[in-house]
Amino acid sequence: MPSIDGARVVADLRRLAEFGRYKTGVHRPTYSPDDVAARHWLADRLREAGLDPSIDGIGNVIGRNKRARRRLLVGSHSETQPYGGWLDGALGVIYGLELARAFAADPACSGLGIEVAAWADEEGHYGGYLGSRSFVGALGEDEIDRAKGRDDGTPLREALARAGFAGRRREQFEPGRHLGYLEAHIEQGDTLDAAGLRIGIVEAIVGIRNFRITFLGEQNHAGTTRMVRRKDAGVAMVRLATRIHDHFPQIAGPRTVWTIGRMSLEPNAPSVVPGLAEMQVQFRDTEPQLLDRIERELHALAAEADRAGPCRCAIEPIGRTEPRPMDPGFQALIEAAAERHAPGLHLRLPSAAGHDAAILSERMPAGMMFIPSLGGISHHWAEDTKEEDIVLGARIFAEAALRILRQAGNSGDQPG
Ligand SMILES: [Zn+2]
Repeated sequence: MPSIDGARVVADLRRLAEFGRYKTGVHRPTYSPDDVAARHWLADRLREAGLDPSIDGIGNVIGRNKRARRRLLVGSHSETQPYGGWLDGALGVIYGLELARAFAADPACSGLGIEVAAWADEEGHYGGYLGSRSFVGALGEDEIDRAKGRDDGTPLREALARAGFAGRRREQFEPGRHLGYLEAHIEQGDTLDAAGLRIGIVEAIVGIRNFRITFLGEQNHAGTTRMVRRKDAGVAMVRLATRIHDHFPQIAGPRTVWTIGRMSLEPNAPSVVPGLAEMQVQFRDTEPQLLDRIERELHALAAEADRAGPCRCAIEPIGRTEPRPMDPGFQALIEAAAERHAPGLHLRLPSAAGHDAAILSERMPAGMMFIPSLGGISHHWAEDTKEEDIVLGARIFAEAALRILRQAGNSGDQPG
């Protein structure tokens, strides 16, 4: 059994958190000087672990294992959300590093290789999942040409040039090289923490559907326009928002979530009846049929609002991702490892957040393991996890990786 050095895992996480440290969290947007320095630091650690590291043309740090006969790809992303937490992404990358070291140090693991990836821009500073999409061949040069930073509009090409990554080859997935992809992550929600559980086995990553709903009324004077003749787009929007929040609980599944995260009025002035209003509605679930049903109901509610008048209501889709099931065999092996180290303290659950594992699962079997997030806080600098959970998670993750690598060997399936 590869031996995990818990103190080393925590020390590496704390060191990585120094790049862009903000209060108890980290501010490390993709391709910022801190992010670039962190990627070079990671590449150096991967080299020390006996891997052959490179930073590619989109910023992915990938550590290759040349000696292994069977390989598992392990990782996560290394940038953070603005003023985000120290574990989101970093945890999965440092677990990968520790696994690479532990497997290399254990003679019983000879021939079993961990390869490590720190993907770029999972967090969407320039587009979302840029690194993992590039790796699986789902990121074209044209998209890189067009992409801009969401905060200051810096062209992605310029950011890559400044980072020193422009002109480098982009590493591509090689069919047959890996038995699969394994990613550890903090849960980010509070399911595990609230129940006193220590490990989550991800069954599927949710699909997400986003819609823009616009209301066309009539802009007019807020004093002289009598109430009976107003066409107030803001009122129409708030009515529909309430209808959605009242109606969705009746049609949603037990873990469906929905959010109206953005609302706007035009002209958005205190003494003007709004002539135009817009809101964005998003919902997530792992069941495609449920997503379809909610989408149909959302269209029906919007049509009802349009018919009711006096404002016109229109709805349009603005993006979707499909639910991605995790490999059932990997789930069973992660669960077996969890049961050995934390009997009865693990749970199968969906991931309500998107992850690089969803992208990788398009090309190879993929699995994900969660450790608890204290209070379910994430995408915030206060995000944290107990040290003992970080260390226990690393042990279970290493055993899960070993079981995956060994089982593939036992089944006679030995990819090049
Ligand atoms: Zn993350």
